[in-house]
Amino acid sequence: MSSSISERIATVKAQLPTSVRLIAVTKQVPTDAIRAAYAAGIRDFGENRIQEAIAKQAELQDLSDVTWHFIGHLQSNKAKKALENFSWLHSVDNLKLAGRLNELAQQLGVSPHVCLQVKILPDPNKSGWSVPQLLTDLSALNQYKNLQIQGLMAIPPLGLKDVEILDVFNRTRELAQEINEQKWSHIHIHQLSMGMSGDYQLAVQAGATMVRLGTILFGERPT
Ligand SMILES: *Cc1c(COP(=O)(O)O)cnc(C)c1O
Repeated sequence: MSSSISERIATVKAQLPTSVRLIAVTKQVPTDAIRAAYAAGIRDFGENRIQEAIAKQAELQDLSDVTWHFIGHLQSNKAKKALENFSWLHSVDNLKLAGRLNELAQQLGVSPHVCLQVKILPDPNKSGWSVPQLLTDLSALNQYKNLQIQGLMAIPPLGLKDVEILDVFNRTRELAQEINEQKWSHIHIHQLSMGMSGDYQLAVQAGATMVRLGTILFGERPT
């Protein structure tokens, strides 16, 4: 890509409703590029590996008004580090992990913003709640008072047509609505973390409130 990071950010921002939060996904992106994104107005950054993120956060300490979002698969043994270094966890994908995070959050005196990762369609390559399992686990999640459960995160399986991707995103929004209608639960889902470089326009069409964009802002990552 010949355009600069700031030009790409401006182009994407111009396409997003102002209500949609743009999370710049900076996995494998060096800190000078993160600084360029910051200079272009980005304040939300997403990382998927704890160690890599902590190293970069240490170099970027002077950027004090940044919000860090954890978007990767979280192992239980990294849960404490995740809570210490991120205010948003988008990828909480099972009840056991949520319970562990709730306990640790209590001990650490933090109350992280949480999205529950859901699999609207079966996907052997991804973790996350199935819809029936999430509805079953809702009453347990409702007890986890140290977590601010605010959102659902969804990633469609690879290889779908646009209409099918749109359907996954629409069903995610409908699931949030269904959860919010459970009157016995205080969980209120008002964030939909959905949309990556290849499908964010469909996600926005379906009501995404947060999009997680890497490649379109920073270029292809080394494989
Ligand atoms: C890498 C990643 C993204 C960004 O993907 P791009 O296609 O580069 O925009 C978004 N969400 C998650 C969970 C990711 O791992």
